[in-house]
Amino acid sequence: QRRKKPSSQEVFEKLRKGDISALSRAITGVESKASEDYAFAKALLQQALPFSGNSFRLGITGVPGVGKSTFIESLGIHLIKLGFKVAVLAIDPSSSVSKGSILGDKTRMEQLVKSEFAYIRPSPAGETLGGVARKTREAILLCEAAGFDFIMVETVGVGQSETAVHSMTDFFLLLKLAGAGDDLQGIKRGIMEMADAVIINKADGDNKKAALHARREFQNALHLINPKSHQYPVKVHLCSGLHNEGIEEIAQEIASFRQHSNQNGSLLERRNSQELYWLHQTIEDRLKEAFYSRSEIVNQIKEIETSVVNRKISAFDAADRLLSL
Ligand code: GDP
Repeated sequence: QRRKKPSSQEVFEKLRKGDISALSRAITGVESKASEDYAFAKALLQQALPFSGNSFRLGITGVPGVGKSTFIESLGIHLIKLGFKVAVLAIDPSSSVSKGSILGDKTRMEQLVKSEFAYIRPSPAGETLGGVARKTREAILLCEAAGFDFIMVETVGVGQSETAVHSMTDFFLLLKLAGAGDDLQGIKRGIMEMADAVIINKADGDNKKAALHARREFQNALHLINPKSHQYPVKVHLCSGLHNEGIEEIAQEIASFRQHSNQNGSLLERRNSQELYWLHQTIEDRLKEAFYSRSEIVNQIKEIETSVVNRKISAFDAADRLLSL
């Protein structure tokens, strides 16, 4: 009486033709925690792999309110006008706490969501950062197999989420505001080292002067940071996502970076090291998961934790005991 669940082959065939509902179904399968979906997801990814890797993957970060959604919409529309298909994914490990994603929220990219050449997918919820990141990474592969030319992965700087996005993208954009306390002082050094481009956003109206000043400051700071492996000069751009200013220049910068890193092999190198990073990350995650879900551990961990807190045994000793179980 019920319709039969389609096989992974059926879903994949449609997905390859660019069918958005098949793509959504595939991503939902990958995000699912249900054990019966595991084989389905694995088969889909296996089929997607030979067709993946042809997009250019953009990472986008910045504090809430910096204008990420607005910027992504403007850049997305620009890329679509150039004839590309654009997918927007998000990594937001906090969304499980705040119930519902604050990123990739469809209502915030009204134009983009209406375009048949765009696909917007909010962050998977109810997960640790590791879980969210892995699923987003797999969603990238599925979007690529579905024919998307640009994949934008958006995040806020929560915990290690920027590192996660950086480790799955080809070009990492950092959005900043001039003044507003969101200046050099408050910036994590690590994130400056990750950025392939810095954007001073909302460089419009009364903000323009401060934005020009911020650009100089950032450019100077970037000069002091060691050149990255691809040795591509990191530029600081002024932009107004709202008024669509600076978008074209940024798109050109992305295109020239792509060409450059393609030619000198650094794109391949970056992707290769990302693959190895995810290999080891996944092993670590699985080992931990397997360890903590063992019944011996579940049964004894509370007691041993209490002994550690009461200084009856040392943390090292406790770890030894648990690991020997
Ligand atoms: P997000 O939280 O980083 O995704 O930021 P949003 O894109 O939702 O933007 C936050 C607020 O800033 C909204 O009220 C936007 O209208 C506004 N905003 C976004 N981009 C710009 C811009 O380029 N210039 C100005 N003046 N306001 C902007």
